[in-house]
Amino acid sequence: MPASRTETHRIRSLRPPKPAVDPWRPIDQMLEIERQPVGTPAQVLTVFLAGSECPFTCVFCDLWRFTLDQPTPPGAIPAQIEHAIASVQGELTATTHIKLYNASNFFDPRAVPPQDDTEISKQLDRFAQVVVECHPRLVGQRCLDFADRIGGKLQVAMGLETIHPDAQPKLGKQATLDDFDAAATRLGRHGISWRAFVLVGAPFVPSHEAVYWAVRSVEYAFDRGAEHVTLIPVRGGNGEMERLAQQGLFNRPTLAQLEEALERSRDLGSGVVTVDTWDLEVLFDCLSCGPQRIRRLEHFNTSGTLTPRPVCTACVR
Ligand code: SF4
Ligand SMILES: [Zn+2]
Repeated sequence: MPASRTETHRIRSLRPPKPAVDPWRPIDQMLEIERQPVGTPAQVLTVFLAGSECPFTCVFCDLWRFTLDQPTPPGAIPAQIEHAIASVQGELTATTHIKLYNASNFFDPRAVPPQDDTEISKQLDRFAQVVVECHPRLVGQRCLDFADRIGGKLQVAMGLETIHPDAQPKLGKQATLDDFDAAATRLGRHGISWRAFVLVGAPFVPSHEAVYWAVRSVEYAFDRGAEHVTLIPVRGGNGEMERLAQQGLFNRPTLAQLEEALERSRDLGSGVVTVDTWDLEVLFDCLSCGPQRIRRLEHFNTSGTLTPRPVCTACVR
């Protein structure tokens, strides 16, 4: 159930304009190396798909920028996948994984028309693992059928965001922790692995507790069987977050908080912890050590080795 129409309209009305999006081309694609819970790191083709906007309109969401206002046209998602695969054709191996991130929910029929599932699953046959993102309440029969159709293993990425008891219901996610647990259990029963996104600096969480609740949330995900948890610093910029900031209900997390959240959560479970390093420049306030600190996090993401924090005389760290 999305947020009420009034609330959705209010949040969307605060946003800056968004760019035009071509539904027949992916927003972007990249080849990267990702650590796995066991075994050697995998090559992963990540495809950022263009598609219809997610209906949930969470207060912190920054994924709406590159989405369509209309339903995704049938045939568009297969066309985008074909384009992305063709662009890296010579570089793929027999063990490459693929991530299809559509800034929404892969099993929402408005975002990915169900009539495209057969074609998409054929395109994905060559990949050892397929990762798609989905809201916990949309993990249903279509997801289970999709897992059976593809040649490789399916993994579902779900936003846990935070387990802070007061903040969690205010995020507009429209999913309780029970919903999250039910989706995790359902996936587990069908042999489908899953990963979680956890926010650092979630709105409504007091700033001095941001690290504590991020770490607790990572622990919560691992206790329920997550294979991978990604820490995402909340960035703001959608209008609603600036409104909440004015009311003292959101403080943009610092790079130091993100570093501490990672340092305290990386050994909590047998799964992988990584940091979303996209646009991290907005978080650092020291030009002397900021770039080096970001490189440290990027190095951890690929290697699993966390070097000591750099000492900086400019900001007396
Ligand atoms: S469910 Fe995910 S994609 Fe949808 S509005 Fe919330 S954060 Fe954004
Ligand atoms: Zn510094």
